[in-house]
Amino acid sequence: MSYDLLVKNGRIIDGSGMPSFHGDVAVSHGKIAEIGRMNGAAKQVIDAEGMVIAPGFIDNHCHYDAQLTWDPLCTFSCHHGATSVVIGNCSLTLAPAKLEDREKVLGMLSQVEAIPLDILRAGVSWDWETVPEYMEVIGRRLGVNVGMLVGHSPLRLYAMGEASQERAATTDEMETMRRVIREALEAGALGLSVTRNRSHFYVEGKRIPAAVAPEEELIALAGVLGEVGTGAIQSGGGAAFELKNRLMSRLSEASGRSVVYNQIQQSAFAPEKWKEHLTIVQEACEQGVRALPLISPTVVVQHFTMKNCQIFRQMPTWLTLMQLSDQEKLKAYGDPETREKLRADLDLPESGFYKRWDLIIVEEPYLANNRSLKGKHIAEIAKAQDRNPFDFFVELVVQEELNTRFAFGNRNTDRDAVGQLLRSPYTVVGLSDGGAHVQFHSEVGYSTQLLGYWVREQKIMSLEHAVRRLTFDAATAFGIHDRGLLRPGLAADIVVFDPDTVNPGKEEVVHDLPNNGWRLRLLAQGIHYTVVNGEVLMERGQHTGAIPGRILRNARYNALHNGSV
Ligand SMILES: [Zn+2]
Repeated sequence: MSYDLLVKNGRIIDGSGMPSFHGDVAVSHGKIAEIGRMNGAAKQVIDAEGMVIAPGFIDNHCHYDAQLTWDPLCTFSCHHGATSVVIGNCSLTLAPAKLEDREKVLGMLSQVEAIPLDILRAGVSWDWETVPEYMEVIGRRLGVNVGMLVGHSPLRLYAMGEASQERAATTDEMETMRRVIREALEAGALGLSVTRNRSHFYVEGKRIPAAVAPEEELIALAGVLGEVGTGAIQSGGGAAFELKNRLMSRLSEASGRSVVYNQIQQSAFAPEKWKEHLTIVQEACEQGVRALPLISPTVVVQHFTMKNCQIFRQMPTWLTLMQLSDQEKLKAYGDPETREKLRADLDLPESGFYKRWDLIIVEEPYLANNRSLKGKHIAEIAKAQDRNPFDFFVELVVQEELNTRFAFGNRNTDRDAVGQLLRSPYTVVGLSDGGAHVQFHSEVGYSTQLLGYWVREQKIMSLEHAVRRLTFDAATAFGIHDRGLLRPGLAADIVVFDPDTVNPGKEEVVHDLPNNGWRLRLLAQGIHYTVVNGEVLMERGQHTGAIPGRILRNARYNALHNGSV
């Protein structure tokens, strides 16, 4: 017989975590036909000598909801070996959305995920109102596979209008939300996303609808997944609530479904806290509750100027200033009265910054006579000058007219801690945030970072274990039942990569967004091929022109409509 595709002579890492072996992977009719040494002919042959053949990666935390309407490949996840992405995270989606709510729905995505509003307005063509309609529209043209969660914020706006940012839902409004979730699950959605993130504001300092909802509402909505009997739940900002009152575990218990939440991390603000967090997750698992935090393999450094900065946005005065024009910002930072308000904000218990001036580095001074500050952190410069760090910081910002480039790093900087978290069965590796904060440091290379930095350089785990984290584990956490393994009968989503060179590339600016918008591009090295549903999508970083992606639907949908699980 003749296969459609034969990937030959590679080191097969099947995603199960079992030891690798040398052989071929054959594909027929979009599915994996056979694995091991084979002699059959094939219409297309890929020589994978010296390469790893693995299941395509599942990028489980993305915000491509808008980008998908103009970019069916989901750049740049596709460059890093992703053959499937999960969108609709952190309560944010573009459906359901009534005609009169479209601007607000875009505004929330823009504000929370830092995608400039003019780009969204220019790029998104609204051909839908409901979740099934949205899935139908994007499903017409996909490079990678896309699974969708229903976002609680537009859902709440849909059911409650303006009041969605103000109060609890009435019985009727609850019933509307429950109905929309039910219909979405019946159309194949992968689940529901909520948020508890305290820093997710819409304009004027108002929280987004999902962040306003009381806990009982979340529990009641989670219950719909249990009633229908399918889907997973994702929560933004869940960690603090799991630690406080086990909210994530309770959502899992109320629904009988998996919960994946943001996030466990090693933080310079609380260096030992991750251990306490991991113990709580383990205890819940031992009681039969699956509520797992995401762990990002990316060592996060944010580069910013005070024209455009996210790290101070949990403080109200700082947040207000960020909404101003550059001219107004400069004036405000120079104004003594405003400065005192900014200073007072630093003492707020939920400042999110905790006066860690030792974590902010002057990366690129603007003025020649400030050259000597380059590479130093604010606390050390202020100390040397015998000044208060806040005063020094604001004066530098004003003196350089907002042009100073800073770098801020506070999480996942302790290698031993991050190694333990990445290996732990009680965490889910991911959190690329693909499609989000397009003009800031990107984590879209989390998979190539795991394989290059953590596996090849730091040797924190085997390649087999790492591949399992990026494939089978991610698929399982979100109920993606027919992918994430190289196994005959499953979908032929495959990545061929060079384990000796795989790595994220360097970030660079590209002007390729709607309305001539710009973003940071992060490509990859060492990813040679990705295959989606049996067709080659990417060859050495270039799109082949194929559009083989599909909407990923939950197991219940596929069992009812295709007669198999
Ligand atoms: Zn998110």
